[in-house]
Amino acid sequence: MMHLVFFGPPGAGKGTQAQKIVSDFGIPQISTGEILRAAIASGSPLGKLAGPLMAAGKLVPDELVIGIVQERLKEADCANGFLLDGFPRTIPQADALDAALQKLGKKIEHVVSLEVPDSVIHERMKGRGRADDSPETVQKRLDVFRQQTAPLKAHYEKLGLLRTVNGVGTLEEIAAGIRKSIGR
Ligand code: ADP
Repeated sequence: MMHLVFFGPPGAGKGTQAQKIVSDFGIPQISTGEILRAAIASGSPLGKLAGPLMAAGKLVPDELVIGIVQERLKEADCANGFLLDGFPRTIPQADALDAALQKLGKKIEHVVSLEVPDSVIHERMKGRGRADDSPETVQKRLDVFRQQTAPLKAHYEKLGLLRTVNGVGTLEEIAAGIRKSIGR
């Protein structure tokens, strides 16, 4: 059983490192960003709502992402654990996650925080080219992270769940740091 949250600013490498962990441990990766991008690509009502917000570097409303995650956590492939990537991003999302997991008789074991300075993030985003990776939008997403998401760190630290990991280095070095931080 492994219930993980990956936490960190945009461009911290959450998605990349999450892929390694889920393939090593055979648990699903639940990325709200990926789910929302798929909704945009499919032209669904959710995608129509999320698209302009994401393009502007703003968060999608809590109730939408909370609903997505609540449903996803009930699926059979989450029976032995999961890795949440990009969720929760606000205190209300964290509270909703706790409530949803409590109902399922589960709880988060580790919140892995990838620590990366802003200067490195800007460098990394230059090469990536996703629709919301322009320098202005990256700055907006970093501001949103500081204001709305960073407070979650203290929240999970208080709960004894926070594992801080250096997010600068080779992919292998960072992966080793993550494995060590979760004791696996
Ligand atoms: P990154 O971590 O690089 O910003 P994501 O794929 O996690 O990439 O998120 C991209 C965008 O999707 C965010 O800027 C936001 O608009 C939206 N999004 C993803 N997850 C959430 C969430 N949990 N709550 C609100 N908005 C979200």
